[in-house]
Amino acid sequence: MTRYSAFAIAREAFRQHKGWDRAWESPEPRKSYDVIIVGGGGHGLATAYHLGKNHGITNVAVLEKGWLGGGNTGRNTTIIRSNYLQDPSAALYEKSRSLYETMSQDLNYNVMFSPRGVMMLAQTEHEVRGYKRTAHANALQGVTTEWIDAKRVKELCPIMNIDGPRYPVLGALWQARAGTARHDAVAWGYARACSAMGMHIIQKCEVTGITSQDGRVTGVTTNRGDIGCKKMGIVVAGHSGALAEMAGFRLPIESVALQALVSEPIKPCMDVVVMANTVHGYMSQSDKGEMVIGGGTDGYNNYTQRGSFHHIEETVRALVETFPMISRLKMLRQWGGVVDVTGDRSPILSKTPLDGCFINCGWGTGGFKATPGSGWAMAELMAKGHSPLTDAFGLERFREGRFIDESVAAGVAH
Ligand SMILES: Cc1cc2nc3c(=O)[nH]c(=O)nc-3n(C[C@H](O)[C@H](O)[C@H](O)COP(=O)(O)OP(=O)(O)OC[C@H]3O[C@@H](n4cnc5c(N)ncnc54)[C@H](O)[C@@H]3O)c2cc1C
Repeated sequence: MTRYSAFAIAREAFRQHKGWDRAWESPEPRKSYDVIIVGGGGHGLATAYHLGKNHGITNVAVLEKGWLGGGNTGRNTTIIRSNYLQDPSAALYEKSRSLYETMSQDLNYNVMFSPRGVMMLAQTEHEVRGYKRTAHANALQGVTTEWIDAKRVKELCPIMNIDGPRYPVLGALWQARAGTARHDAVAWGYARACSAMGMHIIQKCEVTGITSQDGRVTGVTTNRGDIGCKKMGIVVAGHSGALAEMAGFRLPIESVALQALVSEPIKPCMDVVVMANTVHGYMSQSDKGEMVIGGGTDGYNNYTQRGSFHHIEETVRALVETFPMISRLKMLRQWGGVVDVTGDRSPILSKTPLDGCFINCGWGTGGFKATPGSGWAMAELMAKGHSPLTDAFGLERFREGRFIDESVAAGVAH
């Protein structure tokens, strides 16, 4: 794999950019692999990457039914933060946030991580209490966050109206090293690094069945033939229920569309990310100048990857009191992704009733931020059968009632 560098760009400039290698190979599937990862989103690719990098397991195939990052990885609003309340979540999300800090160097691929700071606005007394509590919990967990007052909010984000008649801004939970990254670059960077380790990244390969013998996974059937494996990771976000059914077990999960939209590009006006969870909406400005606006989930379960008109109106209406300037913006694009939501709003990283089959799902509306940490932890779980980062996130927690309640930190009105 040719290393990307300023020198390489200069060299290619002299040869009409004809010397670049393909970022990743597109091989035909082999008869079998040590490990198959189903799902070529960020989490599946990060799992494969860390299997190779941390555990030396490289006889791996990532099977993706569409194109890399075409699921939620390429559809999210790219917010990265780790200000969760419960200890197991803070450990996992902070591990992930810290991996984002060096991801571009580690992968030799610019994922444009921008630690511009994320604030979660408190617009009710209840939220003030909740976020102060989270700030204290984060201090104990070693996650750097702080409670800031309304004056400081206004300094950090001058376009905000903090004196709204319905929901004045009372303060915010602020994480200065939180931010954004370019989502599809994360998938592409991992794919390139996996391919360089000799792994097979196979797109347009849909898993249609899972085969097993004596309670142990033996492989998958796909639209490109049968492929054997010793271990398998199911990492398919909104389609987890369908894959679990193929493997013969049920998941405590609902699939529902989550929507987002962007405005026309405008001059730089906002260099932080703002989440307003009471009214429900969140906003940041992309490098192109578009205002990236996150909406809510649909009110009913579905598998539709599309936007709908009423969401534009509801989301913009929610935000316009706090950001009056958006009333004058034209909205440019809108879309949706199928997110996988658990009852406690925490993910599942777990062994399954089928031996050798592992599952990584339930990230719901907030898994982009967790991509590298999830891959790190899932790879350890698959390689060693156990990971300190995944212990609390097993499927058995739903049977035993050990929920990891993050419905406030998840930050989206479900
Ligand atoms: C509108 C929106 C906004 C969001 N905003 C944020 C945010 O700001 N911050 C944040 O942290 N998170 C956010 N999220 C959530 C985040 O995008 C997801 O949690 C995360 O991307 C999940 O990654 P993944 O790799 O698990 O899933 P995906 O990227 O969906 O990858 C799963 C892949 O599996 C493939 N697949 C499915 N079935 C099969 C099959 N049978 N065979 C082969 N392949 C299959 C799919 O095609 C897909 O590519 C948002 C999500 C949406 C939809």
